[in-house]
Amino acid sequence: MAVIISGKEVSAKVRAEVKEACEQLKAKGVNPGLAVIIVGDDPASRVYVNNKKKACAEVGFLSEEYALPAETTQEELLELIDRLNKREDIDGILCQLPLPKHLDEKAVINAISPLKDVDAFHPSNVGKIMIGDYDFLPCTPAGVMEMIHFAGIEVSGKNCVVIGRSNIVGKPMAMLLLHENGTVTICHSRTKNLKEVCSAADILVAAVGKPKFVKADMVKEGAVVLDVGINRDENGKLCGDVDFAEVEPKAAYITPVPGGVGPMTIAMLMKNTLKAAQNRA
Ligand code: NAD
Repeated sequence: MAVIISGKEVSAKVRAEVKEACEQLKAKGVNPGLAVIIVGDDPASRVYVNNKKKACAEVGFLSEEYALPAETTQEELLELIDRLNKREDIDGILCQLPLPKHLDEKAVINAISPLKDVDAFHPSNVGKIMIGDYDFLPCTPAGVMEMIHFAGIEVSGKNCVVIGRSNIVGKPMAMLLLHENGTVTICHSRTKNLKEVCSAADILVAAVGKPKFVKADMVKEGAVVLDVGINRDENGKLCGDVDFAEVEPKAAYITPVPGGVGPMTIAMLMKNTLKAAQNRA
């Protein structure tokens, strides 16, 4: 039986800390502000944006939403980002991805001021993460680290395996584990002997995007298993990248889906926005 690390519990703790720090900032006359841009009407993006707005209200941030039509041009979007970059009262700017196909995501990420880049996607922030000297950490991997810390799990010297090498999750996740002295292996779609590599992991992070991909025979007895995936199973039910029913009895610690890494991502976004406001103060 594994210990279940609850993202609901850990994220509530993070949000409570952010709320308290926000009150202190407000007492000094600084009200943290987050601008969220959404282009088009992707239903999943809509849910994420609504959750981010709710979290802002809960911790006491000013939040502004810019819901732009799918036909918005690159120029219009960049103009809006430029205006928000110049606003004193906006500390964080987030453009919900994916964007409609005609828009250049890379240019949009590059246009957001690195000082307001609370997703930590800007190349200058990515570089800072690489050298371990950063203001903002990417929200999902930072959320996973927060869960590891909360559970009192030591990373130093452990065999850590990350499945997935995306810029948003896999790569920065590996870097954060490395910063804590883990011995890190990154696996991806071309990895041979995946089962062998994964089953040597003390700490296994799954960020694949495939429902129930990680089976019991890929997991070492007593491993820590962190599941980043958000997928639908064959019955349309929300599930992770880990086959929870199979893996849970073998793991020492595991995160569930839903109620695991998902809620952490938004809590860490609040933490980054607070940090940006503290920098302004
Ligand atoms: P992605 O599609 O960009 O990357 C998936 C990675 O998995 C790739 O690097 C690929 O090489 C690897 N992969 C694919 N098939 C594989 C295989 N057979 N064996 C080994 N590796 C394989 O996805 P992403 O953006 O990194 O997201 C991963 C998952 O995490 C998705 O389910 C996504 O919805 C979820 N996600 C959750 C949160 C959250 O807040 N919890 C945030 C971001 C992403």
